[in-house]
Amino acid sequence: MAYEHRWMNGDVVDLPVGKAVCVGRNYAAHAQELGNEIPTEPLLFMKPASALRHLEEDIVLPTGLGEVHHEVEITVLIGKTLTRATEEQVREAVAGYGVGLDLTLRDVQTELKAKGQPWERAKAFDGSGLLSGWVEARGISTRQHIAIGLEVNGSLRQEGHSGQMLFPIASLLANISQHFTLAPGDVVFTGTPEGVGPLVPGDQLAVRFGNFFITTTQVE
Ligand code: ZN
Repeated sequence: MAYEHRWMNGDVVDLPVGKAVCVGRNYAAHAQELGNEIPTEPLLFMKPASALRHLEEDIVLPTGLGEVHHEVEITVLIGKTLTRATEEQVREAVAGYGVGLDLTLRDVQTELKAKGQPWERAKAFDGSGLLSGWVEARGISTRQHIAIGLEVNGSLRQEGHSGQMLFPIASLLANISQHFTLAPGDVVFTGTPEGVGPLVPGDQLAVRFGNFFITTTQVE
């Protein structure tokens, strides 16, 4: 089924579906677990709208391309156009927050990195961007940390919160908007905490977003 933005209660969001801008290495512990340096500027890449799916639907993994890793991330839904925006403008432009999985073909990515090539083959494939329902931004206090977590088959694999980010959400979106316009309906994946690892068919996932909800999904 084609992806459309939905609020956490299932209602359709009145915004088109656009691109997803993603940040790599936004949590120091995750940069270190993959042997990467701590960045001094956000590492950005994108997924096209065709990569997006609902997290509640069964997850279909690509086959024959090596390990597919889970990266649980806080996600942001853009409500207003942001071009070379300030952090103040960013705060007024966020429509919602949620949780997502940035699925990554890790073996493919390692090969691409070694060759100095772009990451799209590892990051932008169909179904690589899984999104929960959105919680309205006005219902979220940005003074408190937003916590996320991922359990696989009942054991905790990843846990983190927005206070651990190297580039906090407002400054991250302002930085992105210096390079790419963020349009209404675009999504930002804000980076993953440590604990990434492979998914295999039959895995049962439970994804947590603060105290708001837990979404459960099966890997096919
Ligand atoms: Zn990621």
